[in-house]
Amino acid sequence: MKINIAIDGPSAAGKSTIARKLAEKMHYVHLDTGAMYRCTGMKAKKTGIDLEDEKALCAMLQKTQILLTPEGKVFLDGEDVTSLIRTDEISLAASAVSKHPEVRKDLVARQQQMAKAGGFIMDGRDIGTVVLPDAQVKVFMTASAAARAKRRYDQNIASGIPSESLEEITKEIEQRDYQDTHRSASPLTQATGAVVIDTSDMTIQQVCDAIWALAQPFVIKEEE
Ligand code: C5P
Repeated sequence: MKINIAIDGPSAAGKSTIARKLAEKMHYVHLDTGAMYRCTGMKAKKTGIDLEDEKALCAMLQKTQILLTPEGKVFLDGEDVTSLIRTDEISLAASAVSKHPEVRKDLVARQQQMAKAGGFIMDGRDIGTVVLPDAQVKVFMTASAAARAKRRYDQNIASGIPSESLEEITKEIEQRDYQDTHRSASPLTQATGAVVIDTSDMTIQQVCDAIWALAQPFVIKEEE
């Protein structure tokens, strides 16, 4: 059976980029759990649900379909929202809804259901601690706030997403870091057994190689 790989870390540390690239190399499926919180925040905003109203958010989720395709597309109730969920406004909305335990319970159950078959590289904030505590490979990927803000800024420009200034993005990243590490429900923290990789001065390829080195012994076993 294929293994699962858990990648956690603060926003814009490069988790999704790395997970996608590694999934391609290993013929695994990348699951970007942040996209699910982004969809939740986006739908709440669109339908006028208070981001603080946990009960209403959960009722909304009961009638919400979130589909993540292996090609990296995100569908919210059938609508392609792949790039719409990437704005700074939705980033903060995602962070706001993610602090509610019942919202997390709903999304975590969906993630665990998907990962049952193995062969997933899942990235998020609570993958190694809550979603897949038994994942064979756990990584805690981090980078300085300045390096992360610069990457997010360059990414926005490259993909034509209207971008805020570097200073504004840095502030937004620091605000999300604070929210994500200080909430009481599954705060972002390094899982037991996770290997820390600081990507501030590493290339994408170097990070991929480092995680591949951790996964390789298990993959060899898979093939035996
Ligand atoms: O990873 P991404 O930046 O897209 O995630 C958006 C927000 O969703 C994060 O700031 C975090 O608050 C929340 N999130 C979470 N748990 C996850 C993934 C994302 O709380 N597993």
